[in-house]
Amino acid sequence: MQKNVLDTDLHGKVAVVTGAGGVLCSDMAKVLARAGAKVALLNRTASKAQVYADEIVAEGGVAKAYGCNVLKAEDCKAVAAQVLADFGPCDILINGAGGNNPLATTDKEYYEDGDIDADTRSFFDLSPEAVTGVFDLNFVGTVIPTQAFVPQMLGREGCCIVNISSMNAYLPLTKIPAYSGAKAAVSNLTQWLAVHFCHQNIRVNAIAPGFFAAGQNKKLLYNEDGTPTARTGKILAATPMGRFGESAELEGALLFLVNEKAAGFITGICIPVDGGFSAYSGV
Ligand code: NAD
Repeated sequence: MQKNVLDTDLHGKVAVVTGAGGVLCSDMAKVLARAGAKVALLNRTASKAQVYADEIVAEGGVAKAYGCNVLKAEDCKAVAAQVLADFGPCDILINGAGGNNPLATTDKEYYEDGDIDADTRSFFDLSPEAVTGVFDLNFVGTVIPTQAFVPQMLGREGCCIVNISSMNAYLPLTKIPAYSGAKAAVSNLTQWLAVHFCHQNIRVNAIAPGFFAAGQNKKLLYNEDGTPTARTGKILAATPMGRFGESAELEGALLFLVNEKAAGFITGICIPVDGGFSAYSGV
């Protein structure tokens, strides 16, 4: 009997995952490898990705770790050439590297009288370098790997890109204006790239994770003693399902988007995986 289209088989495909040394994207790399793809795990610090590449190989998959700073075009080009030599041309690119910086984060949600001069990090104290850094990491760090790997997709069939956006793309969260703006830009870029490359048969979509406890948001979600912050309480109250997501819960959206049979006519969308956060008005 014919299997249904959701049975994603990636044998013969090469997948590249940036930020693969992190919590969510290491899991994405494993998901792609279990579906049969050869996976290149890229991370600024190679050793962080190496751990997960080793785990994939130990499970019987094909994977290799590469040190790659997504903000350096020459790094990305060199790694793209190395991946091509090791595995063949890239079919699937996951632009997962991203994150925030405490120096681009306000201490308070609302401006209060006197904050401009007080010993608190107000909007006026945000370091322009940190704001630029966060914007670059999330937005430019999606553009540069795309420039490096799309040439390997041109003239071929069945290639796709999945960018990682955020709830901030729908409505900005308090305190993190640079990250919010950058992720809104990632969603916008996803649509732009989808249109730009549609005649090359390259589909470009995004996933917007809701709240998953991970490295980049640990400081906002947990106090130093490990107790949840007040922000964690607000997030869970605003998530109708009342809990954080588990990184394994991104698997379905990822496999769907990279599956040519299931999602072959889908490009330029962003799938929220958020326990209802983006649907809830708070009332
Ligand atoms: P993480 O901090 O665990 O992983 C991010 C990884 O990116 C790290 O391994 C880090 O070393 C790497 N990285 C940072 N700068 C880099 C650079 N210049 N070049 C290459 N690699 C670099 O965070 P995560 O939560 O797993 O986040 C993965 C993606 O998901 C990010 O884009 C993040 O913004 C997004 N996201 C996360 C959540 C969440 O709740 N955790 C929610 C929405 C979106």
